[in-house]
Amino acid sequence: MRLFVAINFSEETKARLCDIQRILRSSVKSGRFTDPANLHLTLAFLGECSQEEVKKVKEALSSLSFSSFDLVLDRLGCFRRNSGDLWWAGVKLTQMLQDLQADVAKCLSTSGFILETRDYKPHVTIAREVSGKYYFRDPVRINETVCAFDLMKSERINGRLTYTSIAHFDSV
Ligand code: ATP
Ligand code: MG
Repeated sequence: MRLFVAINFSEETKARLCDIQRILRSSVKSGRFTDPANLHLTLAFLGECSQEEVKKVKEALSSLSFSSFDLVLDRLGCFRRNSGDLWWAGVKLTQMLQDLQADVAKCLSTSGFILETRDYKPHVTIAREVSGKYYFRDPVRINETVCAFDLMKSERINGRLTYTSIAHFDSV
C-alpha cells in the first residue's frame, strides 16, 4: 500500500482552508481542488510498502516522542507546472516542526526506508492543475495546535483519492 506520514488538521483549520479554496476557485479558469477531507501537511512520503514494511514503519514511528506545538499557515503560493499551477498554503518552518520532521525522517531512514533528501518545504496543497492567473492579496493566518501525527494510506476508491489513517501517534 501507498503510505505517507502527515499532520491532519482540525475541522476549523480545514474550514478556513476551504474558504481560501472558494476564493481561488471563483477567480481562476479551472483547477482540481483538494477534497477538504484530504487537506494535510506531509512530513514524509514512503510510497509503496509491503505488509512487513508497514509493521516496521509503525514500530519505528512509535519510538518517537514529541511535545505538542503550534503550527502557523501564513501565506499562499504556487509552484508552476506544465500541467497547470499547484497552489499551496505555506506553513512556517518553526524549530518544533523542523525537529519533528527531521526525527520522523531519521527514524524511517534508520529503519531502511529511502526518503526524499530535498529540503523540507512545508506546504498544504489546496489545488492542482490550476489554469488562469490569480493574485491573492488578503493576508493568511491560520493557527493550529499539533498534538499528533498519523501514518496515512493513500488509495483510489471508485476513482476518488482517499486517505486513511492506519496508525495514530500522540504527543507526550
Ligand atoms: P495524486 O498523486 O493522486 O494527485 P496526492 O499527491 O495527494 O494525489 P499521493 O501521491 O498518494 O497523493 O501523495 C500523498 C502525499 O504525499 C501528498 O501530500 C503528496 O504531496 C506527498 N507526496 C507524494 N509523492 C511525494 C514525493 N515523491 N515526495 C514527497 N512528498 C510526496
Ligand atoms: Mg501524488
